[in-house]
Amino acid sequence: MNSVESKPNVKFKSVTIISNTEISPSVFVLSFKRDFTFQAGQVLGLAVSPNDDARLYSMASGENDENVNILYNIKPGGKLTPNLAILKTGDILWITVPFGSYLGSSEPAYWIAAGTGIAPFYSMYRSGMGGNKTLIHGSRSVDAFYFSEDLLRDFGPRYVRCCSQQEGEGIYSGRVTQYLEEIDSLPEDQKYYLCGSAEMVVECREILLSKGISFSNIVAEIYF
Ligand SMILES: Cc1cc2nc3c(=O)[nH]c(=O)nc-3n(C[C@H](O)[C@H](O)[C@H](O)COP(=O)(O)OP(=O)(O)OC[C@H]3O[C@@H](n4cnc5c(N)ncnc54)[C@H](O)[C@@H]3O)c2cc1C
Repeated sequence: MNSVESKPNVKFKSVTIISNTEISPSVFVLSFKRDFTFQAGQVLGLAVSPNDDARLYSMASGENDENVNILYNIKPGGKLTPNLAILKTGDILWITVPFGSYLGSSEPAYWIAAGTGIAPFYSMYRSGMGGNKTLIHGSRSVDAFYFSEDLLRDFGPRYVRCCSQQEGEGIYSGRVTQYLEEIDSLPEDQKYYLCGSAEMVVECREILLSKGISFSNIVAEIYF
């Protein structure tokens, strides 16, 4: 569970939902009109009532896109996501200002994500930073490679899908960690951006360190 610190000082503003679409079982993309600027990789606090604790979500849309998209999955028993999933077009959502220092850059890099952790990288890609990146995305099922149509088209072989529980054409069978283990050598002069659960981040970081990547070249965002 997470909440924005010092709740009494959290300032929400309301936005009107344009769409809230289930794109894969229990996984949704929620959209509202953008009337602020942000940097790709940043997050918003979201709540369904201004009296609630905010939960944090990466924006999964580009810096210049007309709408802000949020990619989220329902956590059974969770405080926010089951309620978020029943919101409809025209309903109100409460958002904080964008914040966060997990930002994209124009330098060559590896983007390594698990599950909804693809969101900040999709934002960076939509903001024009994808050209010199290698994107590795892990999921349990083949229907959980969100945004893969765009990513396959624009990244080609630099987009690797790792699926741990199903097999599919063009998809690596196994976890992201296994894929990283099997790579012979990785460039030591690039940054490695990790995004996903604490477990995924820790495991990937260990593998990268064991392959000679320096700690300072590993940048992580943990979805807790
Ligand atoms: C920087 C950052 C960015 C993030 N970006 C995204 C994103 O883009 N997309 C996304 O899907 N998620 C993202 N997350 C995760 C997100 O903030 C929420 O944590 C997540 O959506 C769950 O919220 P929830 O309110 O539904 O669940 P919570 O109420 O937080 O509960 C989460 C889990 O804990 C269990 N739980 C709740 N209360 C208790 C308790 N008292 N004891 C034991 N277990 C309990 C619930 O059953 C549930 O399984 C991000 C997190 C961070 C930190």
